[in-house]
Amino acid sequence: MKIGVIGAGYVGLTTGVCFSHLGHEVFIADKDPDRIGLLRQGKAPFFEPGLEDMLKKCLEKGGLHFTLDTSEIVAASEVIFICVGTPPRENGSADLSQIEQASRDIAENLNAYRIIVEKSTVPVKTSYWIERTIRLNLKKPVEFDVASNPEFLREGSAIHDFMQPDRIVIGVSSERARNILLKLYENFNCPIIVTDIASAELIKHASNSFLAMKIAYANLLADICEKTGADVKVVTKGMGLDERIGDKFLEAGIGYGGSCLPKDVKAFIRIGEELGISMDLLKAVDRINEERLLAFVDRVRQALWNISGKHVAVLGLAFKPGTDDVRESPGLKVAKLLLDEGAIVHLYDPQARENAEKILPPGENTLYFDELYKALEHVDAACITTAWEEIVNLDVDKARNVMRTPIFIDGRNIWECEQIIQKGVEYYPVGRPRGRTY
Ligand code: NAD
Repeated sequence: MKIGVIGAGYVGLTTGVCFSHLGHEVFIADKDPDRIGLLRQGKAPFFEPGLEDMLKKCLEKGGLHFTLDTSEIVAASEVIFICVGTPPRENGSADLSQIEQASRDIAENLNAYRIIVEKSTVPVKTSYWIERTIRLNLKKPVEFDVASNPEFLREGSAIHDFMQPDRIVIGVSSERARNILLKLYENFNCPIIVTDIASAELIKHASNSFLAMKIAYANLLADICEKTGADVKVVTKGMGLDERIGDKFLEAGIGYGGSCLPKDVKAFIRIGEELGISMDLLKAVDRINEERLLAFVDRVRQALWNISGKHVAVLGLAFKPGTDDVRESPGLKVAKLLLDEGAIVHLYDPQARENAEKILPPGENTLYFDELYKALEHVDAACITTAWEEIVNLDVDKARNVMRTPIFIDGRNIWECEQIIQKGVEYYPVGRPRGRTY
């Protein structure tokens, strides 16, 4: 098929490159000239394992095109995926202006039947606004369908998640759109749910909010464990073995971050409230998550007594391992809170330094390092904020020798307490009995 993609971000680029890899002819538009320039040279504008290799191969093979001009993709593609950003507004609701702009761009260039598919995460009923915007901006009467096909990929494993998804959700309002989208996904080996558009739109927000709720619940348990001497890792393991619960996303720590969960929970709260529904359940999830950061900094205070003037390493600035995405990064938020308290922060991330520097510029008290053990030199404590393999496998003996005082405050529960304290360090995990050397 001929497929168009608007927005070459984590979702759009992965979608386009994977469809190209599967043999479709793909046209990807982005409004950012630098991004399009890089992509034409076969360079991924962000770090996603395996994506650049696949991009290069698809470009060499032909059939993958990048453009700044949406009209080109509207002219060339039967199916057009909208993959632009839907960032949060100040009040938590989703900012849909990029979706509106993309809809207008499509309308102004629509000359023949097309399916316009929302892949971005959008509030339920957004398809109504897309359809209305296109209809109002059409230059001549043309038939079209709007459909929903929410994306569930995770950064760090985007290609795998796109190619081998747990499920594919398709929301349609016509037989024609249904048949074309089912044909597009016919070789995917997973359940496909075909439903109405509102249900499809809701599945995405409902799923992400549920995942956030699991993490918040694990964090609530962590607080109870800390007061009672129980171990949250054991408690969640015991829960997770129940098939009805499952062990995924039941991890206590510094809370969830990233470009999806925080914004999607907030957006879902707003959606419910606008419908007159009490969203107290998700408000509690959001509050518990935000409090994790303050609780984490309190833990640093417990370890260091006074934070002001102390050198503290923050290990991990990407919101999770396997990506350079720092949107809503817990590591950067911890760094900012420590800076507010007068600390000198030593920042390290194997992939995300460049993006992190745009949000938290280097300065007198904000020191970036390219090497893990350099970041640890002369620090009073180290905070573990992203469970990168390199950090999980840290040589604790080597670290202890370069740190001023060997104190680790772990927001990801990456180590076993008893083993780690035997190496002569102080260790502060979350929701687990602490291993102190005194
Ligand atoms: P992103 O910010 O990485 O990419 C969006 C891209 O769209 C940018 O490159 C931007 O320049 C481009 N763009 C914006 N308006 C445009 C226009 N009118 N024409 C052409 N290009 C335009 O965003 P993302 O992380 O890929 O997320 C996209 C959507 O997918 C969001 O709604 C997000 O919630 C959802 N989503 C994201 C993930 C994820 O892990 N990142 C997973 C599932 C769903």
